[in-house]
Amino acid sequence: MGKDSHNEMEKSMLSPEARQKFDELVALLATERYGPNGPPIDTTFAEMELFGHQAGRMLGRSLDEHLAEQHSDEHFQEASCPTCGPCGESDAGENKKTRPLQTLDGKIPLTEPALHCPTCDRDFFPQRIALAIDGGLYSPQVLTKAIVASAHVSSYRIGSKLLDELAGISISSRHLNNLTAKIGVELAEDRLLDISLPPFLGYSHRDSLMVTGLGFGGKVT
Ligand SMILES: [Zn+2]
Repeated sequence: MGKDSHNEMEKSMLSPEARQKFDELVALLATERYGPNGPPIDTTFAEMELFGHQAGRMLGRSLDEHLAEQHSDEHFQEASCPTCGPCGESDAGENKKTRPLQTLDGKIPLTEPALHCPTCDRDFFPQRIALAIDGGLYSPQVLTKAIVASAHVSSYRIGSKLLDELAGISISSRHLNNLTAKIGVELAEDRLLDISLPPFLGYSHRDSLMVTGLGFGGKVT
């Protein structure tokens, strides 16, 4: 992508006012890190790049958390029970549950409304259905990377190391093994595309797994 088209894309993403605040945030972060006069003469580009990357991840995590909270407050103050329907309607009240979710930019605390159905006498989580996530530890984007990484190497240990080194995603080899085995079983039962995942994720899983036969044995941990 050329510089001009890149700038055009950025302009279309932000209003002039947001752009100005964004520039101010950049200047603020730079000052926080290096002081008002900027980096000393012996600063390497690698150091600047790493700081920029870490700041970007911090912004990404904050945005993910903020958007999920807005989404929750706006749409899930009440919901019908997935088992018994409208008769099991429940108010969200203040009952929320927080769990860690590994995203592309690191772990965030995801706070979901936990509703209680008086008919079934059980809790349910309506937001995760709308968000196309399950109750697991990893976001769909992270799952896609985990599957692709482990599908193209000979062991889960190497897959885990690659994920960490190249994408900054921390998943133990044991978890990677469990994840791919679970998805392999879902594929084998031909249920993957019926569950609430974005189409690209289903495709990535299917594509990687079909190429390698992953999830049906043959890889060491
Ligand atoms: Zn119910």
